Amino acid sequence: MSRLCICTVEAQSFRNYTDFRVEPHPRFNVISGRNAQGKSNFIEALYFALRGFSLRAARAGEVVLWGRPGARVTADLEHRGMLTRVLCVQEEKSKRLSIAGQRVNQEDFASRFGAVLFTPDDLLLLKGGPQERRRFLDFEMSVFSPGYTAALREYRRALAQRNALLRAAPGDKESFALWTERLTALGGELIMHRLQVLKRVTPLLEEMLKEWGGGEEVGLRYRSAAVLRELSAAGIAGALREALEQNGSREMKMRQTMAGPHRDDLSVLIDGREARVFGSQGQQRSIVLALKLCQVALWKELTGETPVVLLDDVFFELDRGRRRKILEKLGDDAQVFVTVGDSEIPAGKEGKVFRVENGNIKSVVSSR
Ligand code: ATP
Ligand code: MG
Repeated sequence: MSRLCICTVEAQSFRNYTDFRVEPHPRFNVISGRNAQGKSNFIEALYFALRGFSLRAARAGEVVLWGRPGARVTADLEHRGMLTRVLCVQEEKSKRLSIAGQRVNQEDFASRFGAVLFTPDDLLLLKGGPQERRRFLDFEMSVFSPGYTAALREYRRALAQRNALLRAAPGDKESFALWTERLTALGGELIMHRLQVLKRVTPLLEEMLKEWGGGEEVGLRYRSAAVLRELSAAGIAGALREALEQNGSREMKMRQTMAGPHRDDLSVLIDGREARVFGSQGQQRSIVLALKLCQVALWKELTGETPVVLLDDVFFELDRGRRRKILEKLGDDAQVFVTVGDSEIPAGKEGKVFRVENGNIKSVVSSR
């Protein structure tokens, strides 16, 4: 089993950094500093270098240092036993990504290297709307399931075509039947992948939460307008077709496709009840963090490589026992980055401590 590792990372004009060059520790890195100095921005730069986009920026151009034309992040990665250079350039309206000197599009770049990010905003995974959970299923969990990203791209195209027909030419029965066929075939594939991922993740999640104490039963339930009896792609496609037929008159009224993976949702249950509604703060936080750790395990299994783990402001919300268990769970295989406040540097782990002050980052402690 190999592990992905950031050996060096450099950035120019990224958020509040004019320029930095950092050589992280291969295992454990602590990023410390007062509020608003650039800790989260540093984590964002690492995620950007590994996935080619920011999860935090509402607009891609936001990551560019105010007043500059573009931001640039370069990293040397140890990836499957080789040293690989990645380059990500973000300008106000355009982006350039390359791996080992070759231009790569966003879709391919995003499914090349594993980076699992946890931030307090991830609580939206439970608290937010269904689109948050679909985004998690599509762009986080399923990215490394073979064929998923391509099927998703094609599905979105078919959905746009079918919706356009519903709006402009609902009487064109022949085209409509063709797009329905295409949509349900791709939809069947997507849902099948999602269910497979959830099937792998559920026992991991149960085990993790059991270890953390509490004793509650957790469950994941996939919610779909289609009645999912048969779990093959073709079987699900058939169920989707039925759901669309049943929704036919609603579709004509709303002028949009009313069933399919773009409308499905995921429920997290604690002892059979919706965690979103009934879970305590601590339970919700633990579930989200556990889901992210499941993502690490799943990606390891799918790619044969341990992803880089980025934890932004996670630790101050957790008690000491749980911190220790999380770090143990990550084991000694993942390269980990954690941000902490000023006075709470976790002791006893081998690694490097960086200090961030007003857009400057430097290594202050190093141990091997
Ligand atoms: P906290 O402990 O409060 O989470 P932090 O160290 O994580 O703080 P960051 O989120 O990294 O802080 O933000 C540091 C500063 O970067 C903020 O003051 C913010 O205004 C600034 N900033 C954000 N985007 C840009 C940008 N595009 N150009 C310049 N500065 C920016
Ligand atoms: Mg922060």
